[in-house]
Amino acid sequence: MERTLILCKPDCMQKNLAGEVIGRFQKAGLRIQAAKVLRLTDALLAEHYSHLTDKPFFPEIVTFMKSAPVLALILTGDNAVVTVRDLLGPTDSRKAAKGTIRGDLGETNMHNIAHASDSVENAEIEVKRFFRADEIPA
Ligand code: ADP
Repeated sequence: MERTLILCKPDCMQKNLAGEVIGRFQKAGLRIQAAKVLRLTDALLAEHYSHLTDKPFFPEIVTFMKSAPVLALILTGDNAVVTVRDLLGPTDSRKAAKGTIRGDLGETNMHNIAHASDSVENAEIEVKRFFRADEIPA
């Protein structure tokens, strides 16, 4: 059984769309293994978005991601990583097809509703980044 790490971003939380987003994951057969609401810190964001720290828009991402608490989820299921990325659509919400989460609910490149792990390897790293072992029920 594969697992993946999701963050319902501040835009999702402020628009009260977490239920809608989770519903789409659940309808696709994914299950919630763990969940928590947390406020992201500079240190966590620098680690999580280390591939973007040299981009001109990095400070804006940090401001956005800290603008409200996020909902972190561990979802499990067959091919969970690819299944969730397909449901989300591409990074830029304006280019995401209707019927995808970002296409239907996102607004821009940055304000795109949710983060999802992009590989099985990164999913395992990200699960450990956001959840302690004792926060994941056996
Ligand atoms: P994804 O979240 O689809 O895996 P990336 O890892 O490339 O995409 O980027 C991480 C996040 O940084 C995106 O989800 C988005 O919020 C923000 N981002 C990426 N590219 C841009 C951009 N060109 N302008 C503004 N924000 C961006």
